[in-house]
Formats: sequence, structure tokens, C-alpha cells
Amino acid sequence: MTLPEPALRNPRVVIIGAGMTGILMTIKLREAGITDIRILEKASQLGGTWRENTYPGVACDIPSHMYTYSFEPNPDWSKQFADGAEIQQYFERVARKYGVSNSVQFNEAVVSSVYQRGKWTVKTSQHNSYEADFVINCTGILHHPALPDIQGLDSFRGAMFHTARWDHDVDLRGKRVGIIGTGSTAAQVIPEVAKLAGQLTVFQRTPQWLLPIPNRSLSERTKKRLRENPNRIRRRAARYQWMLQNLLTKAVTGHKPQNALFSAICKLYLRFGMRDPVLRAKLTPDYKVGCKRIIINTTLYPALQRNNVELVDCGIAAITPAGIRGQDGVEHELDVIVLSTGFHPTAYMRPMDMRGKNGLSIDEAWRHKVQTYRSVFMPGFPNNFLMLGPNTPIGNYSVIAMSEVQCDYILKVMQRWRRHDFDEIDVKPSAVAWFADYMKAGMGKTVWVGGCNSWYLDPDGEPILWPYTWPQWEKEMQEPNMADFTTTKFESSDIEEQAA
Ligand code: NAP
Repeated sequence: MTLPEPALRNPRVVIIGAGMTGILMTIKLREAGITDIRILEKASQLGGTWRENTYPGVACDIPSHMYTYSFEPNPDWSKQFADGAEIQQYFERVARKYGVSNSVQFNEAVVSSVYQRGKWTVKTSQHNSYEADFVINCTGILHHPALPDIQGLDSFRGAMFHTARWDHDVDLRGKRVGIIGTGSTAAQVIPEVAKLAGQLTVFQRTPQWLLPIPNRSLSERTKKRLRENPNRIRRRAARYQWMLQNLLTKAVTGHKPQNALFSAICKLYLRFGMRDPVLRAKLTPDYKVGCKRIIINTTLYPALQRNNVELVDCGIAAITPAGIRGQDGVEHELDVIVLSTGFHPTAYMRPMDMRGKNGLSIDEAWRHKVQTYRSVFMPGFPNNFLMLGPNTPIGNYSVIAMSEVQCDYILKVMQRWRRHDFDEIDVKPSAVAWFADYMKAGMGKTVWVGGCNSWYLDPDGEPILWPYTWPQWEKEMQEPNMADFTTTKFESSDIEEQAA
């Protein structure tokens, strides 16, 4: 005689953050029948990165039809690489369609989440307290602006702001503007600011490699055809995916022919896209293509060759009340300084006070190194997941595709809880150590350790990326290996005692 299956449990889930991953997670959980979901969002709007980054020129450098949820293709993208505002609208539309927006508690920043015997207690800036069986950190990667450690930073008398905190009240028309930084963000901002400013001075510390893929508009005819036949969208997305997977991703993970191809393209573009030999010399990197994130852009070189733009590469000595003084002693008088100086990539859910088993704080657990198991699990923090954690295959690939894989992986773990397999799941320290070794073993052949400094590297100089191929990652994330976890079932009296 077979015994009846016990009913599936419906866990209480707190999702922290209503950006791309938080929206996705909510939709997937609901699809799986998990309905007790609370999404806590610190801001008054959803959208994460695309809500926060409103600088002129903000766009995604992953093709639009690949930077979409697989279950919600969008025939109406207006460009090959969509603008930030259009991406924000896409997420708002999807969130509305799937009723996610209604479950978001806005203006409610999580200040702490504390674990005790199968339960998380999450406290927020609104002095609310929520209990959850699972917490999913959907807090994003690049959301803590990094301010440069430059002498005199606070002394500047004009307007100064970070690209992720763009001050739209500051009118740049005719102004003397300085931009510090030449990363992916700056490459998008510089051409736009150059059109407005009277004089733009760009302060470059390290040159970058540029891959010249133009951002074409998609015609009404193309959009109509995509609308009429969704298979065309899928085929388009699959083509881009093939290119990223087999060319760009391989070029940075130790596949020589692909790296040679991209190196040649970037070098030829620098040679023929930058006519001025003095500027070209200043813009020539001394590290391998792909060591820093490859910048996909065709507008930066023309902008740097405008008469009202100057590239300063001697280094910054100080920020002064009147502007920026270079290491060569030249003072550049400015009205506005834009800090395009990137983000703190390893902050993740912090500064939240997250405490796992035995009161272990995340700051303490990660004091020496940010470590996870398969980017998702943090040892000592049971029933708690991290989306887009370290060693997710970031690096010129769609974070949406990565998140969908992680979502499915997390769901498979949660389904076991629902079937009463356990009340608590924690990753074994041995599995975390194995994962660290596995990552380390792959890093040596990647270009990220090719002699440059970048946000890809942790404080020990070790990349926080996935060093293998995309198909390998997808395959390994198919099924959680339960041997890597410690699972616990509590006596019901324990749980009742807690609930009391
Ligand atoms: P980033 O790549 O980290 O670049 C920061 C820039 O600031 C670098 O040029 C850096 O110089 C410079 N810098 C930092 N501190 C400095 C200092 N004290 N003095 C002088 N220069 C200083 O940051 P990001 O450009 O914001 O891009 C970060 C990531 O965001 C990208 O790699 C990408 O993943 C994402 N992003 C994506 C898109 C997209 O299209 N999808 C667009 C924008 C951003 P060094 O190079 O010398 O360190």
C-alpha cells in the first residue's frame, strides 16, 4: 500500500529587491505555486539598475532581444541595444502583467535579517518585522557607487555627482564639465555630454579596448515581423546567444582563436577609428583585450576627437575648489564634475546586517573573502539565497539568462523543503572550499588575470567571474547536488516553541 503524499508546504518567502532578479524570482515562485511572497524594495519604484542609472546615454550592451526574460519576449525593442529608459519600461510592464508590482512594499529598506532554527526575521527601515522560511537576496551587483579616493574630493565648489546618482537639475549646456573615469559607463556618457558641454575634459587613468558594434535602430517593418511571428524573436535571441557563447565568452576564458579574433578587431578599430596619433597613443591599453570588460561602443572615439573635448591621462593630483589639478600641475577649471568611477562590486546585500547560524554576521563571514557555493549559497546562512553572486558568469553575457538558471536551481532546492525533505538547508564548508578551488583552477587561463586592474577582481586580485564556458555553467546548475548540503528536520515541538 502506498502512503498518500503529504501536502506541499507553502513557504513564506521574503525577496529583497524589486529589480530584474526580484521580479523574475517572484514570477517563477508563483508559477511553482508558492504564493506567500513579500518583496521588500528600498526605493519608491522597481527596476534596480535601470531605475538608478539615468545618466545621458545609458543603455545595455547586451542585444535587446537577449536582454529579456525568455518567457516574455519583446518585439518592440526600438534598438539593437536598448536604452535604459526603455528597459525600465519593459520591467515595469512585465511586473504589472504578472501582478508583481502589487506584492512590492516600496520605500522599505531591509536593515537586518536574522536566522534562527528554520526562520528568518527580517526588519526594515519602516520598523516592520517579517518572518520567512526563505530569504532571497535580489539586491544586484553594481549598486553601491564607488567614490574615488582623491585628495580634496569634498572641496569642489561646483556641482559634482556620480553617474548612478545623476543630477538632472544641473544644466550642462555650455558648461565646463570634467568626467573622471573611462569605463563602460563613461563610454556612454562622454559622447552625450560632449554634445552639450562648452568644454569637456575626460580624466583617464587606464585606457580601454573598444569593440565597434553599432547600435542600429530596429525599423517598424522589423518590429511588425517580430510581432507577427514570435519564432523570429526566438531565432534572433538564439543567434545573439550563439555569438556571445561561442565567441565573446570564449575569447575571455582561454580560447585562443576567439581571443585573437577580438584582439584583432579592437586593435584595428583603435588604429582606424582614432585618426589623431597622439590621442591614439593615449588610448592604447597595455593589457590583453578582455582583461577589463570589453566596451561595445562606436561613439566614444568620435566624441574624443571633437574640438570641445580634451583627454587628460597624466593622472589626477587633487580636486580643488575650482576644478581638477593633474599630476602635471595643470589646473583644469570646471563647473561640473561627473564621477564615472564605477561601483563596489562585492558589497552585494550589505550594508544590511545579515546574521546566520549562531549569530554569524555576513561581514564576519566575508571578512577575508567573499565566498559562496555556486554563487548562490553562503555557508552558515541556511535557507538563504543570493542571486547573481560571485562567480556567476558575468562578463559580456546576459545577466537575465544567468538569473533564470539560478532561479530554477533555487526553486529545486525549495521544492524539497516543500516536500518536507528538510526544514533547514545549509551548504557544507567542504563544498564551499571545493567550489573555491574549482574557480581558482579555471582562472589561470582567463584574460581577467592578464595584468590589468578591474572590478572583476576581488581584493586578493582573484576574478569574481565564472572562468569556464556558459554551457558548462548551465549544465552544472541543472540540479543541486544534495551531497554538498547539510539538511536538518526540526522536531515539531521545536517549531511550535519558536512560533509561540
Ligand atoms: P568601471 O568599469 O569600474 O570604470 C570605472 C572607471 O573609473 C575606470 O575608468 C577607472 O579607472 C576610473 N576610476 C576609478 N577610480 C578612479 C580614480 N580614483 N581616479 C581616476 N580614475 C578612477 O565602472 P563603470 O564604467 O561604471 O562600469 C561598471 C560596469 O557596469 C561595467 O563593466 C558593466 O558591467 C556595467 N555597465 C554596463 C553597461 C552596459 O552597457 N550594459 C553600461 C554601463 C555599465 P581604472 O580603469 O584605472 O580603474
